[in-house]
Order: sequence, then C-alpha cells, then structure tokens
Amino acid sequence: MKRALIVVDVQNDFCPGGALAVPRGDETVPIFNRLMPSYDFVVVTQDWHPPDHISFAASHPGRKPFETILINGRPQTLWPVHCVRDTSGAGLHPALRRDAIGRYEKKGIEPETESYSAFSGSLAAQLRSEGFRALDIGGLATDYCVRATVLDACAAGFTTRVLVYACRGIEAAPGDIARALEEMRAGGAVLVHA
Ligand SMILES: [Zn+2]
Repeated sequence: MKRALIVVDVQNDFCPGGALAVPRGDETVPIFNRLMPSYDFVVVTQDWHPPDHISFAASHPGRKPFETILINGRPQTLWPVHCVRDTSGAGLHPALRRDAIGRYEKKGIEPETESYSAFSGSLAAQLRSEGFRALDIGGLATDYCVRATVLDACAAGFTTRVLVYACRGIEAAPGDIARALEEMRAGGAVLVHA
C-alpha cells in the first residue's frame, strides 16, 4: 500500500530559539531526515500567517499570549506572533532535508481563520487522486497542529498512524500531550511509539 508522510510544522519559530518554541522540537529533524526517503510521497506543512493573524494575542488589544478567548463562539488560544509568512521564523528548520519533499502545504494564510490542520485546503483530494489511502503523521506540536491534522486525516477516511517518536508537544497545561494522543487514538489513528 502506498503510504505518504506528513511532516507538520518543523519551522524555526516552533524550534528552540523561535517565537513559539516547542520544547525539544528540533529533535524531530534527524528523525524525519532518516524517515523521508522510505515514503512514496512526503508533504511538509508550514504555518504561514499574515502579520495580523487572528491567532496572535497582539491582534486583540489587552490580551496576552496563551489566553483563550471566544471568536465566533469557538475557543481560540492566543499565541505570540509566530510564523509570519516570508520571515525566517516561518522557514523550515535549516537542517530538515528538502530533497524528498513532494508538496509544501501552507496553512493559516487567511487573517481571520485559524487552521491547525494540514487538511484545510486541497491536500486530501490530491492524496486520494494519487492513490494514497495510508498516512503517517508527525511533527509539531502534538497537542495542536499534529492533533488537528491526524483527526482530519481519520475523518477523511485515511488509514492514519501517528509517529509519536517524531512528535513534540507544547503541554500548555499538564497532560495536554497525553490527552491529545488519546483523542487521536479514539479518532481512529494508530499510535506508533518507536
Ligand atoms: Zn499558527
């Protein structure tokens, strides 16, 4: 069975030293560099926000990063400004290999829309049309964009594995990573630990 790999948001701002660093996020880079050549297709996602993106605390006067507010009735975690399009922070980690990447999937590109998931655009349709039914997913961060991408992949009917060893999480509240993994498992994904 043809299997595609989705590498979620291994970007400078999500790695140590970045604007929204995921603890030990850079540890995923050598793992993906080793994994990529063994897949039939590799998709790399990038958070790619306009400077006034709705998810930035700075876009909401009086609000601070990591607060949660309601936007159109839905909870939205507010973040430090991160992954602004065409900045170095939005770039992929410099050590991530590029030669095996088949598609770059940019998300969060509209000012008023949060998109944690890689499947907010045409990705599912492309993968299906090319005969992919099985996906492996890892990256940053376990409890946000990986979680959303995995749940959407399952809902779209893909046989989905989470490469837990190739994920790192934010853990804004204790237990967030474990809860996210359990949600993904309950959603139909297989968790792969090694
Ligand atoms: Zn973002």
